[in-house]
Amino acid sequence: MIDPFGRTITYLRLSVTDRCDLRCTYCMPERMTFLPRADLLSLKELDRLASAFVRLGVRKLRLTGGEPLVRRDILWLVERLSRHLRSNALDELTLTTNGSRLEQLAQPLAALGVKRINVSLDSLDAATYARITRGGDLAKAIRGIDAAQAAGIAIKINAVALRHDNLDTLIDLAEWTHRRDAELSVIEVMPMGTVEADRLDQYVPLTEVRARFAERWTLTDLVRSTGGPARYVRTDEGGTIGFITPLTHNFCGGCNRVRLTCTGQLHLCLGRDADADLRAPLRACGDDRLVDAAIMAAIERKPERHAFDYGSAAPAVARHMSRTGG
Ligand code: SAM
Ligand code: SF4
Repeated sequence: MIDPFGRTITYLRLSVTDRCDLRCTYCMPERMTFLPRADLLSLKELDRLASAFVRLGVRKLRLTGGEPLVRRDILWLVERLSRHLRSNALDELTLTTNGSRLEQLAQPLAALGVKRINVSLDSLDAATYARITRGGDLAKAIRGIDAAQAAGIAIKINAVALRHDNLDTLIDLAEWTHRRDAELSVIEVMPMGTVEADRLDQYVPLTEVRARFAERWTLTDLVRSTGGPARYVRTDEGGTIGFITPLTHNFCGGCNRVRLTCTGQLHLCLGRDADADLRAPLRACGDDRLVDAAIMAAIERKPERHAFDYGSAAPAVARHMSRTGG
């Protein structure tokens, strides 16, 4: 799959549900309206679609959400998809989670071939964590991280930089992460969907975070091409930190990814509304010819770059991050 700008698409992020057991203030409103359950594709259908992407050249598959681990029978889907690891069609099967169910699921996920997991954790202070997530239990998330590491899964911690909630404690979070032999990625809050908070008020350009880190450590840029928006540095103490900066840097030139929602909408760019419906071709016929054709036609329409901009008060895209999973 090569798009009109010469970018080869090798990475699919699959949102298996838009539901979540948390309500992070930057991600969704407190009274979030979720999709009717009847609109969700079945796990079998998600497997069929994801497998079509693997057949067409995807080498890395990330399950996300909403919270992927709250989808019922999620291990069934992971088990199905793990056949692509065994056949070497896939290089990596991974997921992004808030960690709330990792304590129970880390071991089976590891047994199915999951080697790395991103866990979102914005604060190490229980009260701040509960406030940001609107009710999340920090100890539970940490037990999940412990269980994953005990199962041999490498952990990357994702933290959204929030001016009033965690900016002053990101160095502590980095140190905690590095002590656990994990990596930290800091993320700029993106204007996706409406939430109660004023995003401009929450937003911190990561140049500012990096400057704070540079007061604590000598930072060396790492050359690492993930095709994504992250730039990595190594601290003089040996820890790795990623900066995910859609607002202050344009990362679109090397973009290698597309996103599929749990209703079968293919999003061609995180920061644009361009999408394609794969549910109709999936359900129209038992073999995958129509699906393959719809995917290839969609890739032809992948936008050149995102439209994120804090110049306007309106969100750049109307959907919440929980629809596409970041
Ligand atoms: N529930 C899982 C989790 O939190 O890791 C997976 C889905 S969540 C939507 C994926 C990532 O998107 C998380 O790291 C979260 O912090 C991030 N995120 C959510 N809304 C965001 C926003 N408006 N701007 C930047 N990152 C956001
Ligand atoms: Fe849920 Fe993840 Fe969004 Fe937080 S960031 S509300 S954990 S989907």
